[in-house]
Order: sequence, then C-alpha cells, then structure tokens
Amino acid sequence: MPTPPGPSLHRSRSPLADPRWQRARLDEVDLAGGRGDVTESHGDFAAAAEAALGAPLSATGIEILQLNLGRRCNLACVHCHVDAGPDRKEDMSRATAERCLEVMEASGAGVVDITGGAPEMSDQFEFLVRGARAAGRHVIDRCNLSILLTRPYAHLVDFLAEHQVEVVASLPHYRKLSTDRQRGDGVFDDSIVALRRLNERGYGRDPKLRLVLVTNPVGAFLPAGQASLEVEWKRELKRAYDIDFDALFTITNMPISRYLEWLETKCQTEAYLRKLVDAFNPASVDGVMCRNTLSVGWDGRLFDCDFNQMLEIGLTGGVPGHIDEFELEPLARRRVATGRHCFGCTAGAGSSCGGATT
Ligand code: SF4
Ligand code: SF4
Repeated sequence: MPTPPGPSLHRSRSPLADPRWQRARLDEVDLAGGRGDVTESHGDFAAAAEAALGAPLSATGIEILQLNLGRRCNLACVHCHVDAGPDRKEDMSRATAERCLEVMEASGAGVVDITGGAPEMSDQFEFLVRGARAAGRHVIDRCNLSILLTRPYAHLVDFLAEHQVEVVASLPHYRKLSTDRQRGDGVFDDSIVALRRLNERGYGRDPKLRLVLVTNPVGAFLPAGQASLEVEWKRELKRAYDIDFDALFTITNMPISRYLEWLETKCQTEAYLRKLVDAFNPASVDGVMCRNTLSVGWDGRLFDCDFNQMLEIGLTGGVPGHIDEFELEPLARRRVATGRHCFGCTAGAGSSCGGATT
C-alpha cells in the first residue's frame, strides 16, 4: 500500500508557498563569475533569449491550449512544481470550462493539453475531453498513472481509449527506489499496474492510442540524452514488466515550488540555478513552449506557461489576462514574461512539456 502523501507547502504554511518568495529567492542568487558572465546574460533570461533569437522572446501563435484544471492530486511528490496534493481544493468551474472550449474554437488551437494536479480529479475533466474531441482536437492527458487505480477514476482507462486521448504519463524512473523516493512508497508498483492496464486497452500498442512516459531527474542534475534514455527505458520496462510505450520525454526540474523547497533543504539552490544558467543553449530558445502555447489556470487567468502560472507571473504588455477577455491577435503575438526559472527550459538539450527541444 502506498504511504499517505505529505502536506502541500500551502497547507503547511511554508513561506515557499508564496510565489513572490520563490521569485525573490531565485533573483537574489549571485551568478557572477560563471558562464552567465561569458554569455553576458548575468542571469537575465530575457537578455539571453533576445541575444539567441535576435529579437525579444515572443509568441508565434497559439497551437496548444494548455488547461490547468486545478491543484487536486492523489499524490504529493517531492519535486512538484504545482504544490499539488490531496489537501488542495482548487478546481475549474463549469463556466470556465465552457469558456475554454469557446476559446479553443476562437484560437484555432489544434491541441488541448490538460494538466493539473491530477487533472482527472477535476469535475470538468470528462466534460473538456468530450468537448475538445467532438470538435476534432487532439487531446493530451498529463496523467500520474496511479490515479487510474483509484476507485472513482478506474473507468478512465476505457474513457481515455474511447476518446483516443494521448496519455502523457509521468514516471520519474523505471526503478522502484528512485520513483518512490520522489513520489512516495508504493507509487512505483501502482504505476506499473496502471501501465499494464493501459497496454491491455491498447495504449502503447495500437497506433491510435499513444502512450508517452515523462521522466525528470531524481536529484539536482540535468536529464541525460532523451534518445538514449528512451532506448534504455523501453528495454528495461519490456524486460522487467512486459510494458510497451511510444516515446519518452525528458524534462528538467524547474527551481520552483516543492522542487525549490527540496533544493533549499539540500542547500543546492545556488548550485542548481548556476548549473541551469551555465548550460544555457541558445539553440533551444526557439523551441520553448511559451512560443506556441497559451496556458489557462483553473480560475481562468492566462499565462505564458504552466511555470509562470505557478509563479504568478501574469501576461505582460497589456494583453488580456483572463479567458473571459480572450482576443486572438494580441495573445498570439504577445511578448513573453520571463524570469530566472526560464533557464530551466533552455539548459542542455532544452526542456518543455514535449520533452527536449533540440
Ligand atoms: S508532480 Fe504531478 S503527480 Fe506529483 S503531486 Fe504534482 S501534480 Fe501530483
Ligand atoms: S518558463 Fe515558461 S516563459 Fe519561461 S522560457 Fe519556459 S516556457 Fe517560456
């Protein structure tokens, strides 16, 4: 049996629950003397991105509408950038979900990317999947796997398959110890059971039912190469558990929320931020997800990405900041609001919700 998840930062009233505290903590790190000086960014992401692109970082369109349905989750992982957990209550309302479907039409976005928390726990999850699929959109469910074993949600394996929803499932590692260290005792075993159920239903085997796994480092380091890790993961999960999946995404841990708390307890915040800045890869800037994605919060507020959403860095440049005020042209060409956390998207091979960007 999995051990019960611990409290969120929000519940434990940690100062780190406050996004302003998180932003200030990253801004106060002294980055002089590292490669940040060599690139002349000095930890200024906007300057580094502008130098790489030859223009300020801006959106190029809205191809993906990413909906964050709330903070509820059955787990409370150590690295969670959302500070989600069973003690969180935030959830999207039906009125906001209806508006999301209207904006999906108005924006022309071809992909609806649903995240949370565990988005399946939202009262709007099935409504949004049905609405987006009926309108012919590609739908992604960012799933933590273990939720699919929880009684009220066990029907979702069939539901997802019937609607041909792409499942992008997070699994820190193919080894039990590393996964349970990040997610809680017993979570790895549950994840394997869930993956087997998805495979039995056709996920990872039927080309119409795409199953992607997402891994992030279990520690203060950058992900290894995505292509070589995918080969290793496919081999190991097949050999040990007869599990199939289509692709592996590697994602860099962002120094925010509970991962920032973890860095703070290990006295690793300075070293990790410096690592991200020193690994800045100009070639990765073109592929950062804020360029083609618009992020919607559970309360309808708009953001450049899910990370900015958690840090409460709203849209800049006077563009509409709430889904009720949606206007395509200014939002599709908006200037992106950035901060030091953005170096997490451009370190090494780059990192996005779609994995490495180079
Ligand atoms: S990382 Fe994902 S599964 Fe873990 S607590 Fe956060 S939202 Fe839930
Ligand atoms: S953190 Fe968000 S705003 Fe910053 S580069 Fe990454 S996707 Fe863009």
